[in-house]
Amino acid sequence: MSQRAIFPGSFDPIHNGHIDIARRAAGIFDELIICVYATPQKNILFSFEERREMAERAFADIPNITVAGYTGLTVDYARKVGAKCMVRGLRVFSDFDYEFRMALANKKLAPDIETVSLITSHDYTFVSSSSVKEVVSLGGDVTGMVPDFVRDELIRKYFPERE
Ligand code: ADP
Repeated sequence: MSQRAIFPGSFDPIHNGHIDIARRAAGIFDELIICVYATPQKNILFSFEERREMAERAFADIPNITVAGYTGLTVDYARKVGAKCMVRGLRVFSDFDYEFRMALANKKLAPDIETVSLITSHDYTFVSSSSVKEVVSLGGDVTGMVPDFVRDELIRKYFPERE
């Protein structure tokens, strides 16, 4: 039976840390669905459509990765698409506490769904969507932290007058 997994997140915007985790997960599972959460509670910069489109572009060359949007409980979405595993990425120690609590809560809600956490690659330990947004907003260069087309979208958002 083919093993399908989901990788949920806000992806505001997608960055190389996410991409690294997704590529590695796509080597473990037959199919990986990048699930872009449509209505995150945190302040977001990019619209749902923009976040989804950037994720689609980032994975266009990987045949077993698809991108979808969702709202509601992640475990409900996992069940809906027949995924038995949710992939998460772990960076520094501060992630662990949050991810640990999320994994336990999800296990309580859906004992049939497993959380699989992959440890970040060394180069991406300090990459987060919020850090890339902050760097670009201050005029810094995020090349190497995000794909070039995401860097260009960020510059367009923060500095529309440069168009
Ligand atoms: P962010 O924390 O960057 O705003 P998301 O809510 O989109 O990201 O996160 C989706 C998943 O990706 C989470 O499991 C998060 O821990 C993981 N993740 C985010 N950044 C990295 C990174 N640099 N390396 C590994 N995993 C990461």
